Amino acid sequence: MRIRQPRHRAMVRAHVVRVAPLSAHFVTVTVGGPELAGFDFLGLDQCTRVFLPREGQSALRMPTAAHNGWIAQYYLMPLSERPHMRNYTVRRFDRGRLEMDIEFVSHGDTGPASAWAGRTEPGDEVGLYAEGCSYLPSPGTEWQLLVGDESALPAVMSILEEAPPELRAEVFLEVPGEEDRRRPVVPDGVNVHWLPREDPGALPGALALETVRERLAAGTLPEGRPYCFLAGEKALPTGLRRTLVKEHGVNRADVTFVGYWRHGAAAMK
Ligand SMILES: Cc1cc2nc3c(=O)[nH]c(=O)nc-3n(C[C@H](O)[C@H](O)[C@H](O)COP(=O)(O)OP(=O)(O)OC[C@H]3O[C@@H](n4cnc5c(N)ncnc54)[C@H](O)[C@@H]3O)c2cc1C
Repeated sequence: MRIRQPRHRAMVRAHVVRVAPLSAHFVTVTVGGPELAGFDFLGLDQCTRVFLPREGQSALRMPTAAHNGWIAQYYLMPLSERPHMRNYTVRRFDRGRLEMDIEFVSHGDTGPASAWAGRTEPGDEVGLYAEGCSYLPSPGTEWQLLVGDESALPAVMSILEEAPPELRAEVFLEVPGEEDRRRPVVPDGVNVHWLPREDPGALPGALALETVRERLAAGTLPEGRPYCFLAGEKALPTGLRRTLVKEHGVNRADVTFVGYWRHGAAAMK
């Protein structure tokens, strides 16, 4: 998959500045500090590695290398000393104040990142390492199909905030509940379809997958060459990509699909 990488990268230590509940299933954590001057912010769906202290650690330990060698460094640390590492979208970046917002889905204490976001306080330490953007519309695109579950909501909101006025897009966003809807300001040619889950036991992403498949089958999506950005629980982007490519003749190169998480599996130990 094509990814626009940052020009320079550094391991950044930052601290929590503010924590603000955003909606029923989201919390915004703002992190800041002078080392954020070394974070190459690209906007759109850019993600960052987030390093968090492991249970029982009083201080954050993290790799130091500013090149790909950090991965080896990370795995050479004994598991008990290694920080937790997860991927999150850079939702906002304030270059003046050197602050970054990250919007965490609150999915309880089942994962270290979600649990951390639920209990963190100003002053807590966090590590960051800039990753790239995978939203890269192909030249010649006539309209865009953006589909995600709640984990991709921050990425899609950031993409829409930067949308050019002439953008034509159909956007399908599945959220845990009605109260997680947002009100983005979008160009006239953009239709945002909110899909709140009615069944709390349903697999996140399944409603969005079924809804878009139905719209494709009914022929009620725009005509012309699309660029598709699909992200969320793995079954959503992989399943929808298959339908688009195999059944609707969409060019593989015009589909960006990213599994943001996997139901029943931790991102890593
Ligand atoms: C490029 C990229 C950008 C991302 N941006 C964001 C973002 O901005 N905000 C965000 O919240 N997430 C985002 N994610 C997803 C996030 O990295 C995963 O959800 C991650 O697994 C959360 O870590 P955890 O420690 O909370 O749970 P883990 O330890 O990874 O998993 C523990 C358990 O929780 C379940 N789980 C994990 N995530 C979810 C979820 N979202 N809903 C319900 N159950 C879940 C797993 O299936 C597992 O059973 C992004 C992922 C990628 C790859």
